[in-house]
Amino acid sequence: MILITGAAGYIGSHTAINFLNNGYEVVVFDNLENGHIQTVNALKKIGNVHFVQGDLRNISDIESVFEKYKIDAVIHFAAFALVGESVENPAKYYRNNVFGTMNLLDIMVKYDVKKIVFSSTCATYGEPKYTPIDENHPQNPINPYGNSKLCVEYMLKDYDVAYGLKSIRLRYFNVAGCDEEARVGEWHEPETHLVPNILKSTFGNGKKFKIFGNDYDTVDGTCIRDYVNVEDLAEAHRLAYKYLCDNNESNVFNLGTEQGDSVKQVFDTCEKVLNRKIDVEIVERRPGDPAKLYANASKAKQILGWSPKRTLENSIQSAYKWECNLDNFKNNV
Ligand code: UDP
Repeated sequence: MILITGAAGYIGSHTAINFLNNGYEVVVFDNLENGHIQTVNALKKIGNVHFVQGDLRNISDIESVFEKYKIDAVIHFAAFALVGESVENPAKYYRNNVFGTMNLLDIMVKYDVKKIVFSSTCATYGEPKYTPIDENHPQNPINPYGNSKLCVEYMLKDYDVAYGLKSIRLRYFNVAGCDEEARVGEWHEPETHLVPNILKSTFGNGKKFKIFGNDYDTVDGTCIRDYVNVEDLAEAHRLAYKYLCDNNESNVFNLGTEQGDSVKQVFDTCEKVLNRKIDVEIVERRPGDPAKLYANASKAKQILGWSPKRTLENSIQSAYKWECNLDNFKNNV
């Protein structure tokens, strides 16, 4: 049985579907602070899902899961992930992302569960010294969110040496798209991400889409990111789990498409996919945005046998289908 923490959230729920589709029984652990009960209900319709509402900051909550279920491995997403909020309230990030994860790891050691796939981030690299970014790039995060994820990476290395806990640290770049059948999708409140913000602006909610800065040193002046499709990302988690089973050794992989797209290019692709003009205005830069981030993901390709299959167009198509269905989904408790 696979324990997925944070599986009521965006990437966690897509990963749960991937495991369910491959015949695994899944325990969803989520405090529903940012995750949604509607997502848990959607997962229950797809496969064998057990749901435990709990918080990693309470060690008894997570221990109860290991008491009740025979867990073979953990896929760990549960975390706060807003950079700006982490600057204003670092304690919240260290308490949940670091201390909460420590509770989880301690219970894993206690119950002799020795495999974990950890959701890390390219934010652990900080301001890039070169692109594309490979796994050997120095890690110097520039905000508490990145620091909290890097702390866990250190913790995982040390728990391996001391207790034989084997981990795969997956460093994601930007994530986009949704389940093609729109059974689950991206539902953040507030929504800060590029693709959903472009799409939401087309629903007549009065919020014009804003590009944060067009004076960066890039091809068209807007920031460049690497947008990997969420279903491709989900697949990488299952391959990482398989790697742990086959090799019983810790490792780290970047996950990205290796292609940089500018904000303007993503916007143009949205207009193309939706076949309509979208209103846009250029505003000030958003603090803390590096000009260019994209991955060298050749290690994941070679060692995990992972290859992203979906294009940015595919991601925008599935995200749009999801946005059209989101109000129904929210009401479907
Ligand atoms: N962005 C933007 N307008 C928005 C949201 C995002 O111009 O409404 C830009 C943002 O400045 C960054 C890129 O889109 O350059 C990706 O931002 P996102 O928040 O999606 O992901 P991040 O790179 O911060 O993880």
